[in-house]
Parts: sequence; C-alpha cells; structure tokens
Amino acid sequence: MTSHDDPNIILECLGTAPKAPVIGVFDLLIPENQLSWDYGMYELYGIRAEDFPGAYKAWHHGVHPDDLEQASKGFQVALSSGQAFHIQFRIIWPSGELRYIEVHGSVLKDGNEMPIRMIGTGTDVTARKIAKTKTQQLSRIVSQTDNVVIVTDLDGITEWVNEAFANLTGYSAEDIIGKKPGDLLQGKLSSVDAINTMAQAISINQPFRVEIINYRKDGSTYWVEIRCEPLLDDQQKQIGFMSIELDIDQRKRDEVQLKRQSDLLFSTSDQCRLGTWDTDLRTGQIYWSEMTRLIHQVVDDFEPNIQTSVKFYKEGVSRETIQACLDQARNSGTPWDEELQLITATGEELWVRSLGRSEIVNGQCVRLYGSFQDINEAKLAEFALQDARDRAEAANQARDEFLTSMSHEIRTPINGVNGMLNLLKGTPLDTQQRYLTDMAMSSVGSLLGITNDILDFSRIESGQLVIENQPFDVEDLVTDAINPLALAAQDKGINLLLDTSGIANVTINSDPGRIRQILTNLVSNAVKFTHSGYVYIHVDLVEVNQDQSLFVGEVLDTGIGIPQNKIAEIFESFTQVDASTTRLYGGSGLGLAITKNLCRLLGGDLKVESTIGAGSRFAFSIQTESIQPRQTTQTLKRTTVLSTIADKETNQLLAKFAVSLGINIEFTNDVLRDIEQKDNLSAVLLDYHQQHEVGHPVLRELSEKNHSLHPIYLVDAKDTTEFQTDLKEILDCPSADNTTVLLNPIGRRSLEKALLSFYDNTPISNKTDTKGKLSTNLDRKVLVVEDNLINQLVVEGYLESLEIEFVVAANGVEALNLLRKQSDISVILMDCHMPDMDGYEATRAIRNGDAGARYQTVPIIALTANAMASDRQKCFDAGMSEFLAKPVSPEQLEEKITSVSGAVL
Ligand code: ADP
Repeated sequence: MTSHDDPNIILECLGTAPKAPVIGVFDLLIPENQLSWDYGMYELYGIRAEDFPGAYKAWHHGVHPDDLEQASKGFQVALSSGQAFHIQFRIIWPSGELRYIEVHGSVLKDGNEMPIRMIGTGTDVTARKIAKTKTQQLSRIVSQTDNVVIVTDLDGITEWVNEAFANLTGYSAEDIIGKKPGDLLQGKLSSVDAINTMAQAISINQPFRVEIINYRKDGSTYWVEIRCEPLLDDQQKQIGFMSIELDIDQRKRDEVQLKRQSDLLFSTSDQCRLGTWDTDLRTGQIYWSEMTRLIHQVVDDFEPNIQTSVKFYKEGVSRETIQACLDQARNSGTPWDEELQLITATGEELWVRSLGRSEIVNGQCVRLYGSFQDINEAKLAEFALQDARDRAEAANQARDEFLTSMSHEIRTPINGVNGMLNLLKGTPLDTQQRYLTDMAMSSVGSLLGITNDILDFSRIESGQLVIENQPFDVEDLVTDAINPLALAAQDKGINLLLDTSGIANVTINSDPGRIRQILTNLVSNAVKFTHSGYVYIHVDLVEVNQDQSLFVGEVLDTGIGIPQNKIAEIFESFTQVDASTTRLYGGSGLGLAITKNLCRLLGGDLKVESTIGAGSRFAFSIQTESIQPRQTTQTLKRTTVLSTIADKETNQLLAKFAVSLGINIEFTNDVLRDIEQKDNLSAVLLDYHQQHEVGHPVLRELSEKNHSLHPIYLVDAKDTTEFQTDLKEILDCPSADNTTVLLNPIGRRSLEKALLSFYDNTPISNKTDTKGKLSTNLDRKVLVVEDNLINQLVVEGYLESLEIEFVVAANGVEALNLLRKQSDISVILMDCHMPDMDGYEATRAIRNGDAGARYQTVPIIALTANAMASDRQKCFDAGMSEFLAKPVSPEQLEEKITSVSGAVL
C-alpha cells in the first residue's frame, strides 16, 4: 500500500485538539439502582452535581436523541452479558454544545452470576472526533487536487506524495519516498538562488515560497511554484513540512514570451525612435511612452497634457496641422498621419511623424491615441537628396546647354575647314598638294568622329539620347555601313567579308542611324586592329516570338586580340587595352562604351571573345519589332557567273550568295580559256585588287580579242569613276564600257544589284559622277541663308562646283526681304543660329506666307551645326523639309537638293 492510499497518516501528522481530554468515572449499583459520578462525569455531561438524580437513567441526561437507542442497547447487552463494554454517543450540553463521549466499562457479578455492579469511565473525545473528520476531508482534497503535495519530515525526506505528483513528474511515490524531493526533481537549470532559499527556510523551520525549474523523470523540465508550510503535531511541535507545488509552466512560458515581445517592442521603438501616446478624454489623463518623452526631451517628472502636447509643435504650419488633425479626429473620428516639425523641451528642432486615431463611444470621442516617430535624420537626408537632385538636374541642364553650344561651336569651324578642303581638292593640285589635302581631310574626319563620340557619350550618360524607331531595309543599311570601310581594309591588305544572306530582303523597325554607328564602330576597330587575314561580318535575324525578333551580328577578325584581363575594361569609357594603343592606333577609348550602350538602348547587348594574337569576335544583338520580307519581282534564275576570286573565304561567301540569289557560280584559274569555251556565262567577276597582275592582263587580252559580250565586274574598293576613266584612257579598252567596278566587300546585295542591272541593261553605278548634271537637268536657284562667312564661302564653293545658281542672305530678315523681291528661288538652305532672326523663326515666317504665297511650300533644307536628334526635330517642327548636319560634303548637299527638287539623276 502506498502512502497516498492511507489518508490517516495525514491525520496523525496534522495533529488534533490541543487540550487533554476530560475523563470521568461512574459506578452503578445495579440492585439498588444507584449511580455515582465523580466530578469529571459532571464535567463530561456539562451539568452540576445538584442537578444529578443519581439513578441509572441519569446517564440518559442530554444524550443526543439519535444516539440514545443504540447506547441503551449497548448498556443492556453489557448488563445481560456481564462483559466489558465500549460505547460511544453524543451529548447535547444545556448550552446546546455537542460533545462526543466514549464510555469504557465492565460489569461485576455475584455468586449466582447476577450482575450487581457496573463501573467504568467516560472520556470526552469531541476534539479527536472533529480532528479526524476534518483530516479525512482534507486528506480527500489533498489526494484529489491537481497540485502536487509533498510531505517531508524535518530533514526534508519525503514521507508522502499525492497522486498529482506522479502525473506531473513521471516518478512514482516509491521513487521519491525516503529521498529529498530536490534529489530527483532539481537539475542544471534549477535556480541556485531558489534552492538556497529553500534550504535556508527549512533549516530554521520557516515557511517559504519559490519558483523553480524542476525536471521530470524523462528529463524534460517544467516550472513550479513551491509553497511550503511547517507541519505541527498536537502539541504544536513541528514534525515536518508540507509543500504544495503549482505547475506554473504555461504561465512562465507566457511570461518569457511576453518579455520577449516587450523587449522586441522596446528595441524596435528604440531603433525606430518610435514612441506611443494615449489620451483619455474623459479623465484628461495622458500617457507618453518612454520614447515619446525622450523625443520631446522632457525632464523626468514632466506631466504632459493635450495643450502642452500641441505646443511642442512648431508654430505655423506644423501646429495648425496638428490642431486641425486633433479637431477632426475628435469630431469625425478621422485618423491622421502627418510629418511635422517639433520644438523639443530643450529647444531642438526635429521632424516627427505623428499618427493618431480616435475611439468613439456613443457618438462621442473618448480617447485619442497614436504613435510618434523621430524621422529627423531621414527627413534631413531626404532634403539633402532633393537638394542634390535639384542641383544635379540644374547641372544636367547646364551640361545639355553646354553640349548644344559646344556641338554648334565645334562643328561650325570643322565645317569651315572641311568645306575649304573640299573646295581646295576641286582645284588643280600637284601630287604633293593632293596628298596634304587628303591628310588634312582625314584629320578633320577624325576630329569630327571624336567630337561626335564625346557628344554621344554625354548624351547616353545623361539619358538624353533619343532612339528612333522606323522601318528600313536592313541589308541595304548594313551594306552601306560597311562599304566605306573597305578602302582602309584593302589598303591594309585585309580581306573584308560581309555575309548578309540571313537578312536578304528584310525590313525591320529600329534606329538605322544607331545600327550604322554600331557596325561602323565594330568594323573599323576590327580593321584597325588587324594586320593580316580578314575581317568577317555576319548578320542575321533570330525570331524570338511572333512579334519580336533579334537582329544579331558578329564581327570576327584575325587581328591582335585582347588580353583576357582587359576584356571587361574595354567597354568602359576612355579605356584602351594599354597606353601604347593611343600612340599606335589613335582613338579615344569611347567607341566600345558607346556601342555597348547603344546596343542596350536598342534592347540588346554587346559581347566579346578574344584570343591574344589570334583575333577577336564582337557579337551584338538588337531587338526589333516585326519583320516584313520584301517581295522581289526580278529574278536572276539561270545566271551563271565566272569568278576569278582566289581566296577561300570570299569563294565560300560567293557560293553562299549564289544559293541565296538562285544563280550558278563557277570559279576558275583560267578566265580567258573559260570565256572562250563556255557559252552559258552571264557575267565575269575579276578580282582586280587582289590579283592586280591578273586583272590588267586579262582585261587587256579581252580588249584585244574584242570580247565585250559579258559584263565584267572588277572587284575593288577604289573610286570607281576615276578608275573607269583611267581604264578607258590607259587601256583604250572597248570592254571598259562593259566593265563596272564592284565595291569591296562584294556583298550579297551589291552582287544582286549588279547582276540585276545587267538584266535591266542599265549600267550599275555605285558612285556616279554627276558633276554638271544638276545644272543641265534643273534650272534652279538656291537661297543660302547663312551668317558665318566661312560657311557661306564653303556652300558657295560647293554650289558653284555643282553649277547651281544661288543667292546669299546673312540672316532671316535678309532672307525674307530677298524672297519678297525675287520670285525664282526653288530651294532654301537655312542655317539655324543667326543674329536678328534665326532659321526657325524665318522658316515659320516663310510658311506663314510672310515672303509671299508662292514660297509657303518652298523646300527648306536645314543646314546646321546642331547635330542632335532634338535639333533635327526642332527644325521639322518649325516647318523645314529636310535636315543636313554640318559638316557636309558636296555630294550630300547635291543629294539633298536633288531629292527636295524631285530630280531624277
Ligand atoms: P578606341 O577609340 O580607342 O578604339 P574603343 O572603345 O573602340 O576605343 O576600343 C577600346 C579598346 O579596345 C581599343 O583601344 C583596343 O585596345 C581594344 N579593341 C577594340 N576592338 C578591338 C579589336 N577588334 N581587336 C583588338 N583590340 C580591340
């Protein structure tokens, strides 16, 4: 049996009534029916001696009616049996008090076995009885409670535990009895302080209360609150301790959680400098959190109220705003969130964010509460940022203005120099002078290139580069962009190869000018950094989805290559592979930075792979909208071309073009033999430059044999017109009439055009000598509006060389006057920046009819040093018909005048 099965142990431990019980003696002479009591019996019955009748029935006196029958029976049985007896009954004292009496007695008999006397004692057991009842109740409660109860002796050794102990700890009563509770229940995490407190209290027999972590049998922990009281016996002597252990695990966990949350809240509020406030409008009580007080910088005993709170806000906008917020919150429950200025108790000016809400009860605002954050640093940073942004914007604007004017200022003199050199070239020059003029012109070209690069770069940097989006034939564009670079390649002995078969007859939407710039930059770099071998350009279209494609291209060269560790750097502005590059090759180090940016602006990218000493591959991509294949009406079917081109790469390309064009191409080493033997030939391609020694003798021979049946295409990159004239004169060759020079690289498009022109029977011309043609075909007079004297001279020189009649006006006012007087002006070349009246205003006036109705539709070509896209737009907006950026060449001028005059050359 375990201890908690026997609650009586508790009874003993708890003790009973403190007083010694009353005992009385009685003596009954049976035959005489005479009952004698001693004083103790009177006391037991609560009566006086004089009230005692002295007969047997006297014991009935005051006996509880419920107990009388049973007690009488007990006495009768004792009398009749003559045996010792033990009877218990209750007595109600005259005062009404209930007492428990226990009677022990025995019966004396005579010789005849007749009972003659009964003697015994009566004991008052009331106190014991009450204690027993109470203890039984208590024991029941203790056994059944959920709280653990442990009873120990004075040394702290466990004597008894209730059932809850096993439930909570997992230990049985047997496990713990005979041991100190701490031996089983305490561990590493149990507070040493709590253990000491308990030990000390036990040593001086004092009650104690501690909270401690205990361990279960399975090693898990739980929090308990131990309340321990000393246990006393009947004599008030301590006989041990009783501990009640309350499971406070959940409470403790809640406390830890609460603490964590409040710590978190505190640190958040600390970090964000975020305080709270709460105002009870019924009591007028206002609460400020610690941080709110800190932000206001008030002294410790400062008592806030609504009025003083409002006064902390800076007079003016801030105070008026907060007052309006408070009023609105009170009247209509509108919450607020404002950034305001505060003057703290120490006079510091701070930016705060004030948030407020109201609580409305029965239509009345009873509470205002909210948060309050110090946002001073953020606000000052924001102002600084705004300030910096404003300044940057102003600087940007200043830079733009500077760029515009620099663009104008630089281009004007370059235009002058370029124009003069162009005019000079048109005069009779000896070889030395021609060479020097060419050199000067090339320097002007470089200068212009660098100026353009710098301007472009600045535009990209400031995000001001305007990208156009218009449809154009991409193969034409690529061919036109690459052709001008052929001469440099040819001069260096490099083979320039262009493969456009993937983009044949295709129109795309993008910015043609920028694509030309990308190609020019990459290919001219490739030519520049290659000394032998080839530069191969391959372009293609890759469909991304139904609406979108990528225009991709690669420029491969067999040049000097780029070291791996420099690859990433070359796209940075003003960066070249090493310092010697500038010395050897020139350049500003801007080209690739611009090119990459342009590719990105056009929705693509630029990548490079390179092997030092072996060559480089630059690959670009550009996003484009839709692709519209162009319908070709003419066909080259059944055309057979004989080619003397010898190098492998070109031959491979030509074979590819042949497939694309649907023609046959045959390669030969003996062109004369093949011409004589084959009767299916449509044309002959002679590589004039690469096989110089082949070209001339072949031509000579052909001319001697009077072979003029086939058109002959001489592949070269030189000026065709002069060459053709030379050919005629030097060789006196009739086949020269049938001979055309094809520009290198022989692109798919150029070959197609050349062969088609053969079918058309119109000789193709890549570059036509048109001198004098305008004057014979057109009888036009041009008005030149230009303030700069040098530029005037340049344009005049150009127009004279083109034999075009012209008049000059120095500004818009003069131009208008002149137009009013003269009626035969057919084209106007208009400068933009001029004193008195600029080109824009003059154009608007002409379009308005200020120069007469006849000039309202006259073609006006802007001729300006302002080369940016926005300038161009400005010209069109003013009503001009065409745009030419200075410096211009005579050819460009001629082309524009021709196009606006509607002339066909
Ligand atoms: P730069 O005007 O100096 O040519 P770029 O930005 O176009 O400026 O080129 C930067 C540098 O990258 C060049 O100076 C050269 O060192 C290197 N580079 C560019 N293209 C090539 C190439 N095809 N082969 C070798 N090096 C190249």
